[in-house]
Amino acid sequence: MKTVSSLLDGQWYDRYKAISRLNIRSSIYDVTNKCNLRCKGCFFFSSGEHLKGNEEMDVHAWEAFIDREKERGVNLAILIGGEPTLYLDRVEAFYKRLPTYCATNGIIKVPRDRFPDMMVGISLWGDEEDEKTLRGKDTFSISSRNYEGDPYTYYLYTITPKQIGKTERIIKKIRDAGLKVHMQLLSNDEGVDGFTWKPVELEDIRREMDAMLDAYPDTVISSKYYHKIITAGEMLGRKFGWNECPSVTVDFDRRNPQPKRLINFIRWSADLKTKHRCCTSETRDCKTCKDGAAHMSWVMVNKRAHMESAQDLQNWVEVYEMFAKLYKFIPW
Ligand code: SF4
Ligand code: SF4
Repeated sequence: MKTVSSLLDGQWYDRYKAISRLNIRSSIYDVTNKCNLRCKGCFFFSSGEHLKGNEEMDVHAWEAFIDREKERGVNLAILIGGEPTLYLDRVEAFYKRLPTYCATNGIIKVPRDRFPDMMVGISLWGDEEDEKTLRGKDTFSISSRNYEGDPYTYYLYTITPKQIGKTERIIKKIRDAGLKVHMQLLSNDEGVDGFTWKPVELEDIRREMDAMLDAYPDTVISSKYYHKIITAGEMLGRKFGWNECPSVTVDFDRRNPQPKRLINFIRWSADLKTKHRCCTSETRDCKTCKDGAAHMSWVMVNKRAHMESAQDLQNWVEVYEMFAKLYKFIPW
């Protein structure tokens, strides 16, 4: 049987050891059903997830809930919404109890005196024109002022088909703001005309993402294997989709055979009672899903399948490192 130490040389083995200690157990929390934007293609609003339950308003109920989540073994809280910064008391309840990551559109600044080292991921949906079309405003001009030079912030750049050939300008703007960037692909849940991926566009954007990583390694947090997986929707000859997805809420998971999955993962609604199907839109057709976190988790939970060759295992290590950097388990 092939072992990790037989496949990796000393340097790769050290990298493997650093991540194999982490034992990450994440879950996802809708902090609120409200947002200060209404983006076309927002998976949360387009799937009606904001209507599933009335959000809990009592911060003490949030605190007790988070304590129970901690007892359940969660060691990474991923806060989404709605817009979490509309309720900083809830964000603080998480931050005081658990390693916490906060997704935001960046319009309201997370005050660093209150949250000195909380990792913040700012959503960005393309250039000024795309942002105005899809989100109603150019959010970058606001968010980059709010977070310029912040060491615990990165842009989560959702690339659309209209961005092909234009990503370098965005990445340079992010670099010039002293921030990092991670890339994922739009799933176009509301079918906005011209924003659905064609196969040839996915091949083009894969090449472009690879080129950006080569050209801006200090700014782009990514891996070429992740680019391959997310653009092809395939890993080691297996197709991504419902039968393979690792990010399904454990209570919804009756799949047989059971794929490798995130242990005890739950995505909670802001009522603290309702659970959503998965880490993203519960009405999305899994065949069209381009969710970045689901794809990287897919690689991470399938270590054994990556032990056929040294190259496969190195690919796995790089994706795991990328995830660990994005959630502040290891430095950039
Ligand atoms: S900022 Fe985020 S939560 Fe708000 S509408 Fe846009 S995608 Fe949805
Ligand atoms: S929509 Fe995506 S993340 Fe959700 S279950 Fe389907 S494949 Fe997984």
